[in-house]
Amino acid sequence: MAPEQKQDGEPRPIQLYSFRLNELEDWVKQLGEPKFRAKQLFTWMYKKRVQAISEMTDLSVSFRNKLEEIARLSTIKEEMRQVSKDGTVKWLFSLWDGATVETVLMRHGYGNSVCVSTQVGCRMGCTFCASTLGGLIRNLSAGEVVEQILTVQRFLDQEEERVSSVVLMGSGEPLENYEPSMAFVDIVTDGEGLRIGARHITVSTSGLVPAIKRLADEQRQITLAISLHATNDELRSSMMPINRAWNIEKLLDAARYYVEKTNRRISFEYALIGGVNDSLDHAEKLAHLLKGILCHINLIPVNYVPERNYTRTPKDQIQAFVNRLADLGVNATVRREMGHDIAAACGQLRAQKEGRL
Ligand code: SF4
Repeated sequence: MAPEQKQDGEPRPIQLYSFRLNELEDWVKQLGEPKFRAKQLFTWMYKKRVQAISEMTDLSVSFRNKLEEIARLSTIKEEMRQVSKDGTVKWLFSLWDGATVETVLMRHGYGNSVCVSTQVGCRMGCTFCASTLGGLIRNLSAGEVVEQILTVQRFLDQEEERVSSVVLMGSGEPLENYEPSMAFVDIVTDGEGLRIGARHITVSTSGLVPAIKRLADEQRQITLAISLHATNDELRSSMMPINRAWNIEKLLDAARYYVEKTNRRISFEYALIGGVNDSLDHAEKLAHLLKGILCHINLIPVNYVPERNYTRTPKDQIQAFVNRLADLGVNATVRREMGHDIAAACGQLRAQKEGRL
């Protein structure tokens, strides 16, 4: 069966970008075509990056007609694109049912990193995040996530550059939309397609413990980023409601299990919020909690969300926090702020478009 034909009770078109190569092979065989047609399709989709089935000229006209009748190539449309002074580019896409999601391209010295969304909105309720303000609307299909990357790659094609890394860190909790998120990883890492290295893909979670364990058991070579943000359960539960289901102890047990199974270093995300979790005492507790776990800490000075009452941590305080962690033997870096002039924080462009910001 074609992946993602129906979800949430809504019919959705068969999306060619939702197929892994082996699934596409099975599907073309069901249509009475030889297996190698799948590889031809993959080449047109991911290497030549055509935007219409009619451009796939080495396929028979009858097969192209059949594809056009039962499936769709592109299902997302660019609604808005903003380019920041620092080169960050942000897209707002509308999907086949009118829902909207955001994608961000960040230009680093080491390459082009793309942040994709995996859900329309989010139900996790993290208090520092604009994506969750309207709740969860629906999951994205694998193809809708793949198309975000393809659109950015086509943009970069004009400069003969490549998408070098991907973070599943836009709107949505990727591990709640597990199957499509992992299908996305398999599709963009395929050697016959975009060939993005698995080690250059980061999946970010708010702390869905069973899904972290499942990911550990699958032993994928991707990077796992866990949003921690607090050093005690009371504070973390007030910032991240998921902590009431899986508290810090359970989360860190899952993190240890992940490292044991995969031998991969975990990234812990820690949003620094002025006067809330940014004291040197918090830094010490953080170092204590993560002691013995193969990990790195990403410190993220919070973006301003007008609905929330958060202030930014002053620069010298951020540095003092980093220094204290380093004194205690914990590696931490401060995430470079990018695209500040274009509402680059997760969920802000969509909220602006809907008149909520
Ligand atoms: S931070 Fe991530 S998990 Fe939390 S509400 Fe925002 S999108 Fe959802």
